[in-house]
Parts: sequence; C-alpha cells; structure tokens
Amino acid sequence: MKIVESSHEAYAHVHHLRCDQQKIGLVPTMGALHQGHLSLVERSQAECDVTAVTIFVNPTQFGPHEDYGRYPRTLEADLECLSQRSVDLVFVPQQPALYPAGYSTYVEPPAEAELWEGQCRPGHFRGVLSVVLKLFQILPATVAYFGQKDFQQLTVIRRMAEDFNLPIRVQGCETVRDDDGLALSSRNRYLSAEQREAALSLWKSLRWVEQAVAEGQRDVANLEQTMQQKLYDAGAEKIDYARIVDRESLASLSAVDRPSVALIAAYVGKTRLIDNLLLDAPGPPDH
Ligand code: AMP
Repeated sequence: MKIVESSHEAYAHVHHLRCDQQKIGLVPTMGALHQGHLSLVERSQAECDVTAVTIFVNPTQFGPHEDYGRYPRTLEADLECLSQRSVDLVFVPQQPALYPAGYSTYVEPPAEAELWEGQCRPGHFRGVLSVVLKLFQILPATVAYFGQKDFQQLTVIRRMAEDFNLPIRVQGCETVRDDDGLALSSRNRYLSAEQREAALSLWKSLRWVEQAVAEGQRDVANLEQTMQQKLYDAGAEKIDYARIVDRESLASLSAVDRPSVALIAAYVGKTRLIDNLLLDAPGPPDH
C-alpha cells in the first residue's frame, strides 16, 4: 500500500495508472474509519482495478462552533485497516498541501445545497464541494464512491459532477448500520452508552415513517409531526430538521406521492447525528 502526502505525487501515480487504462476507484473520507467507510472501499475493490482512499479532515466544511478541533483522528489505526485490505493508494495530505497560504477559490454550491444541512450549517457544502473537486483533480479516478448516509452531500456532489462536466462517475452506496439500526458514524464514538440508546431515536423515527407510508399515510405534514414526536420520545434532545422531501430536488412535499426521502438531523447531548431513509409510495393514497 502506497501512502502519499504530496498532491503532485498522488496525481502522478493515479494519472499514470489512468493512462494505462486502469479503472480507478476513489473513496474520500475524513478518517476515523468504520465499516461504513470500509463498505465503500470493498465496493471499489470489487468494481475497479485500483482503489485510492483519501483521509483528510477538511477544515473548510466545519463551522466556527463545530467539532473540527475534536473530530476523531486515528490515522495509525486507519492506515493499518486499509493496509489489511490491500488498498493500493492512500492520500493523507497535511492542511497546507490542500490549502496553502493565499488559498481563496471555492465552489459555489448548487440549489440543492441551500436546504436542510445547508441551512443549518452555512458554508458546509461550499467546503465539501471545494475539497471534493480538489480531490477529483488530484486523483483523477474513474469512479468516486460516497455513502447515502450523507444523502444531501451525495446529491450535491452528483450535481457538481454533472454541472461541471467532471469526467468521473459518482456512485452512491447504501448506509451501513449496527445490528440495532444505528447508522455507523465517526461521531458515534462521542456517545456514552445512554446517549447511544437515545441516538437510536433517528432510526426508530425513520422506521416508523416507512411503516406509516407503507400503510397508506401520505400527508407529509402529519408524518413529519409524528416523526418529530417519535424522535423526542426516544431521546433526541434537539431537532435541526426531520423532513420528507423529493428524492431528486430535495424540495419539500405536501404528499408522499413520488420517490421521496426522509431526512433527519438531531442532537443527542452535544453530538449532532444525521440519518435518512428512502420512501416509496406505490400504493393507494391516504384513507
Ligand atoms: P466521512 O469520513 O464522514 O466524511 O465519510 C466518508 C464517506 O463515507 C462519505 O461518502 C460518507 O457518506 C460515507 N459513510 C459514512 N458513514 C457511512 C455509513 N454508515 N454507511 C455508508 N457510508 C458511510
């Protein structure tokens, strides 16, 4: 496994492989790797000739009062884990390699980024898209793998790739969960045993809405109200949003009458958690 800190070296390596007609999979991460990240790596390894992983805690996507400083950093364990899986290349830039003195160019995010996470975390998607675009340039891969766990992030990255004609395929991958349904997240390690139980409120609320839709409930206002109540009842302390939206545009809906997605961001203690679930409404409307 090759470990590279320099952008030039990373580019030269991947560019060379690309010229050699190799299919290259890219898995961008912020480290503190768990099975969710590793599922992306496994998918890339199954589909590509070469797999490159990046580990970089990107400062520009964190707000001033967010957890950039205390975000878990476990580089040694991450590299060990990737080495065991025979990943080909790991790019681990230091901050000045991506943001040298005088750096000032950013991507203006698309309309889908203005909603939900974008409203709660101003500047977040500007930071995400800027670093993702840079990583796509530095590691000119064939396919990039992202988790549906960050549904809105996946949507805006897809949109950027399309709008900027980027020569890379953006592949979404299913959310990996613990046995009880909790979506794996690097931030779960902030949770005490009691808080972990409360964190299950997101999954319980999503499962409830899925069931309600399957039973024919279509009214989004009613569904959202009960989703929020279920979240509080099961231990969430503050809700940023708990919404049912159009799966493509992420716009609000009045009825679940098309492919939709339920999106939640909520706090347990000081830890902000997000999760989502795709909803399909094939059956009859409200009765
Ligand atoms: P992060 O390190 O949190 O920036 O995540 C890196 C990538 O892993 C992103 O594409 C995430 O959507 C994805 N990811 C994080 N958690 C999960 C999960 N539980 N299941 C699948 N993918 C995930």
